Amino acid sequence: MRFDSQSGDLHTPGRVFKAGDIITIDGSSGQVLSGSVPMQQPELSGSFATLMEWADGTRRMQVRTNAETPADAKTARSFGAQGIGLCRTEHMFFDPQRIAIMREMILAVNEKGRREALDKLLPFQRADFIELFEIMSGQPVTIRLLDPPLHEFLPKLPQEIAEVAKAMGVDEETLRQRNESFYEFNPMLGHRGCRLAISHPEITRMQARAIFEAAIEAGKKTGSPVVPEIMVPLVSLNSELEFVKNLIDDVAHDIAKETGAKFKYTIGTMIELPRAAVMADKIAGSAEFFSFGTNDLTQSTFGMSRDDASSYLPEYERKGIIKRDPFVSLDLDGVGELMRIATQKGRSTKPDLKIAICGEHGGDPSSIFFCEELGLDYVSCSPFRVPIARLAAAQAAIRFRK
Ligand code: PEP
Ligand code: MG
Repeated sequence: MRFDSQSGDLHTPGRVFKAGDIITIDGSSGQVLSGSVPMQQPELSGSFATLMEWADGTRRMQVRTNAETPADAKTARSFGAQGIGLCRTEHMFFDPQRIAIMREMILAVNEKGRREALDKLLPFQRADFIELFEIMSGQPVTIRLLDPPLHEFLPKLPQEIAEVAKAMGVDEETLRQRNESFYEFNPMLGHRGCRLAISHPEITRMQARAIFEAAIEAGKKTGSPVVPEIMVPLVSLNSELEFVKNLIDDVAHDIAKETGAKFKYTIGTMIELPRAAVMADKIAGSAEFFSFGTNDLTQSTFGMSRDDASSYLPEYERKGIIKRDPFVSLDLDGVGELMRIATQKGRSTKPDLKIAICGEHGGDPSSIFFCEELGLDYVSCSPFRVPIARLAAAQAAIRFRK
């Protein structure tokens, strides 16, 4: 199938689907069906529960989930997830009302404009976090600070530009120029992750405030104190992490003073760039945990854009250049070696450093075996992969049992 992003058409052999047409995808076979087919919720039999119990009694690594919506968090919990290992906060802003404010924030011409938009985003963030903390009550939740490749959020259609211009009280031409000033040749290697926090600290301050206020509120509601784990994305320098950590600590200090509440939290980082992996001993000095972002780590190690590699990787597989797509199953020789170095170096600084994986590979059995071999503490994967991750973690524990 070919998707034409300009027209929104989906071309299949012999048929074209228009934007808005309904299709159904069989996630097991990959078959795509026209229209909506009757669905059935799978029944998890008693035998399934028994097998999972055996797996849970055997495995060493914990299994968490990647989730940011209440629905995903509930599904993952029902599948036995032991917490959230990655809450991608930028995904919480795609809803039409929020994306408009997000655009105002990004396109603001000065800090004052950015603060005004952030003040509007704060209640949404806080309410979302309260709900997540309540759903996951008693379990850890890792919240990753904003990591949007900016192009995903900028207005593209003339109508979108007109809407944002109106909301910001500027003319459309000014906004169009401002929009163009954000153009990047390589957005995935661009102004994202902690780089955004460094150029616009007020974004991190808003997020930290939302996290702490939500943790206090959810702790009161559930009676179970929430200890949020705050994760900084796309770090390659220890000084980047230190800068963001100071911002978060400042906000925590302010909130403790304002509310008189006592609360705990931890700050860690994603290891998703080769420099971070090889400098992990230094970075571990400022981090309370590491989580391997193997999507970006694979992308940056191979120098292959994860958004475009599907145009040539199938050919690589057919011609035997690679055995498996490295974005699906970890490249143990290269990316795996960087993970090994980072794990050893990180723990040489902090022997009990908590280390995890939260890239897509966290739900892939052969990658999970490798994580067990490295001695990681947990894997985090999408909700529907939680059961397979529990089983794979158990099989891996048997394989590598000392
Ligand atoms: C990663 O890079 O592996 C990761 C989990 O972050 P994201 O996919 O959001 O870049
Ligand atoms: Mg990443």
